[in-house]
Amino acid sequence: MIQNAPLVLYNSLTRSADPFVPISDDMVRLYSCGPTVYNFAHLGNLRAYVFTDTLRRTLNWKGYAVNHVINITDVGHLTSDADAGDDKMEAAAAKTGKSIWDIAAFYTTAFKSNLSDLNILPPTIWSTATDHIQDMIAYAEKIADKHCYSLDTGLYFDSSTVADYGRLARAGTDEGESRIDPVEGKRHAADFAIWRASAPGEQRQMEWQSPWGPGAPGWHLECSVMSMKYLGTRFDIHTGGIDHREIHHCNEIAQNQAYTGTDDTGANWWMHNNFLVDRGGKMSKSKGGFTTLQSLIDRGVHPLAYRLLCLSAHYRSELEFSGESVAAALTRLKRLLMAVGTLKTKAKDTAWLRVVREARDSKGASFAYQRGVIEAGLSKAALEVLTPFDEAIAADLMVPRALPLLEEIVGLKSMPADDRLKLVASMDLVLGLNLIDTERADLRIRPVDAEISEDGIAARIEERQQARAAKDFATSDKIRDDLKALGVELMDGDPLGWEWSISLD
Ligand code: AMP
Ligand code: ZN
Repeated sequence: MIQNAPLVLYNSLTRSADPFVPISDDMVRLYSCGPTVYNFAHLGNLRAYVFTDTLRRTLNWKGYAVNHVINITDVGHLTSDADAGDDKMEAAAAKTGKSIWDIAAFYTTAFKSNLSDLNILPPTIWSTATDHIQDMIAYAEKIADKHCYSLDTGLYFDSSTVADYGRLARAGTDEGESRIDPVEGKRHAADFAIWRASAPGEQRQMEWQSPWGPGAPGWHLECSVMSMKYLGTRFDIHTGGIDHREIHHCNEIAQNQAYTGTDDTGANWWMHNNFLVDRGGKMSKSKGGFTTLQSLIDRGVHPLAYRLLCLSAHYRSELEFSGESVAAALTRLKRLLMAVGTLKTKAKDTAWLRVVREARDSKGASFAYQRGVIEAGLSKAALEVLTPFDEAIAADLMVPRALPLLEEIVGLKSMPADDRLKLVASMDLVLGLNLIDTERADLRIRPVDAEISEDGIAARIEERQQARAAKDFATSDKIRDDLKALGVELMDGDPLGWEWSISLD
């Protein structure tokens, strides 16, 4: 293979981009903190999984198989990062009158469907917290004597019992104290609950017996337990949003150190995506009022436009979300699909596409196999085009630099359409925009609350054309205004030949 730029990944532990060396030669073990399923995921949450998916696809591109675990948190996550307050799941159940189990099942399905809409590969293993309660109790029993103490409210981890607590956050033990609500009797501000005892007389919907009385596990415990169960006490990469670098992952690391009796953090790389921000500040699932993927779709935005928006920024940079930024991503995607559509018509041989689709849809076929099928028959010169692409993604997933390379190649007239189509398909294995199987027409989604149908729009455009031909500009302008009032923007002279679009603001 010509492309062999060494993979470098930023590690929050060292605060530097380090050459990636996996524990096993051909298999990377990856754990991603999953959602707390008490509500829909917001667009910010989904950015975290677009990042993980890009990481996973890049690892695949570099020839590694990836054993990927994502957890589903359906118990134990409080309404703050602290140890006081309601369990998010219990609170959601109390508010809606539904059972926690129903709420968890509903939002888990919604989350998985969001991932599928964004063309995010499902993990090798979904692991659900409530399926691992006994594992968590066994884990806690092992660390309890040396590292924990009991209070009326439960079993707490003593953060002073492990070396260098908080090293990931680069905070001394008492730093960040103000963000942690005090719990009476805690020895240090940074100490956290391993087991939260039910208050006397309190009956939680989710409650288990334990050596520390009836109650529920603390949120941080599940990720240590499930990552170890499926990936071993030492695995390659652990991911999450940047907020997790400060508390959740520090606590996981402390638990891992306690369990193994070493200073090992558990994962060699701790990687964090930066936030998607809206103008009003950070998106907040617990405060509500956030944007879901479905609400974008309802406004006529194809979900892959949101994926493209995520890919347009480096995962470690903040990304601003706005009506304009998503509309720009949609236009960029339209342009790409239009160009790829032309390549598909021009290409003489597309038989390989069927083989790739079959390989992609059958679980057994590897990424390397798909890549082999796509790139078979490409000249050395054509393959060379992939070198800068490979260099970009190998440099800590510099996708914003890789994307324009794909856009450039699509329109490179000097190269045969067959070669260009194959190069697009190959690069798209990493980008995951599903460029080969998404048609330009798929992008035109009618907003749910649209008061006019596509046929209705077409009829009015036709009427307007007649008015213009008759130089009746008053009528033509009125039709434009009428449509605008219905949220439809006419696009006279659009270079892509689109006659109308949906206004997003
Ligand atoms: P949660 O369901 O709250 O546990 O969050 C799921 C994932 O989304 C975690 O990895 C968070 O760190 C991440 N996350 C939360 N808010 C944002 C945001 N605004 N932008 C990017 N990632 C986020
Ligand atoms: Zn976690």
